[in-house]
This record gives sequence, structure tokens and C-alpha cells, in this order.
Amino acid sequence: MITVQSFAFNYFSVNTYIVHDSTNEAVIIDCGCINPQEENAVSRYIEENKLVLKHNLCTHLHLDHILGNAFIYQTYGLSPEAHKADVTALPTADEQAQRLGLPLKIKAIPIVKQLVGGESISFGHSELTALLVPGHSPGSLAFYNKKNGYLFSGDALFAGSIGRTDLWGGNMDVLIAAIKDKLLTLPDETIVYPGHGSETTIFAEKRSNPFL
Ligand SMILES: [Zn+2]
Ligand SMILES: [Zn+2]
Repeated sequence: MITVQSFAFNYFSVNTYIVHDSTNEAVIIDCGCINPQEENAVSRYIEENKLVLKHNLCTHLHLDHILGNAFIYQTYGLSPEAHKADVTALPTADEQAQRLGLPLKIKAIPIVKQLVGGESISFGHSELTALLVPGHSPGSLAFYNKKNGYLFSGDALFAGSIGRTDLWGGNMDVLIAAIKDKLLTLPDETIVYPGHGSETTIFAEKRSNPFL
């Protein structure tokens, strides 16, 4: 039994997910909370459900997906985990904010655990496999739970769309090839939780995503 709670945070309405199983161990994915109200929503959910956070996972390091990393680090002592290609290829959160014209001062949290894809990330009795799906960013990851059939696709794959490729290190051909190779080969019934917008399934995207 797996529970997935989603929150839509910050200017970009990024989907932040908290996932736990019957042991109450949990992971948070793409923590984007940006103000005390959004931070409270996260901590209240964790307290009310008596969760123990084991991992802070980033599908990629675009600004909207990492705004809550300092909060998670300070509150739960967890460093963010992300693909090493994004760590080296992407500007810092502060630089990204400047380029987007956002008046933010962001506390930089070092990525101490750099992933390369293929890792198994465990919490409770559950496991997520990190799948490298580059193209939206060079180190974009999706996190796949085989046993229960769900996928966190970040900004690679959305319901009816795919990620933009005009940002640092983006590449449309690479993205489409990676989605077809790594994601559309998963079972049809796999539930897809994207980085923005509503959930979908591999079957629905195979059948009707106009970009694929
Ligand atoms: Zn992104
Ligand atoms: Zn995003």
C-alpha cells in the first residue's frame, strides 16, 4: 500500500510529492515550497501522518523544483539528491532566479548525493528506481516504483505534453528518444505523476500524446 500526496507550490505550480508506505517511512520529491504557508503544509502533513522522511529527491535542478530544499534540510536534516549532470550543467538557484527576473535570495544547499541513474532508493518496504530521462535538462530523472506501478516523471513527460527544451542543456530529440526508450516501455497501467499538472498513465500518453 502506497500513499501519494501532492501539493502545488510556488509561482510555477510545481507538483511536490510526499510518498509513503505502511511503515510510515517517506520520500519527498521536488520540494518547491517557497513561503511559511507552503512549508507548513509540508510539515503538517508529515506530522499528522507521523511520517519519517528518508530522502529528498529532485527529478532535476530547475529552480521551481528546488525552492524548498533549504527548508527540508533545516527541518529534517536531509540533503537533496539529484543527477550529477544537472549539478554541473545548471546555474545555481540564485542565477536561475536572476535570469527569470525573480526577486529571490535562495539559500544554496549542496547536493551531497549525486545520482547517475539506475539507483534503487528505498524507504520502508518500498523502492524507487532512478531512471535517467535527459532532454528537458541533461540530468533529468524519473523515479519508478515497479511493485505498485507508478512513476514520478518530473518535467520530462506531462499529461498530453512533454518538457520544454529551450533551457540549459535541453534537447528535443534527446528528450523524445529518452521518453520512448525509458518511459513508454513501462507497463501501460503505470500511473504517471508529472512535475506540473494532473496525473496520467503510460497507456494514455502512448495513445494520445501529440509529441510522441
Ligand atoms: Zn524543469
Ligand atoms: Zn518544472
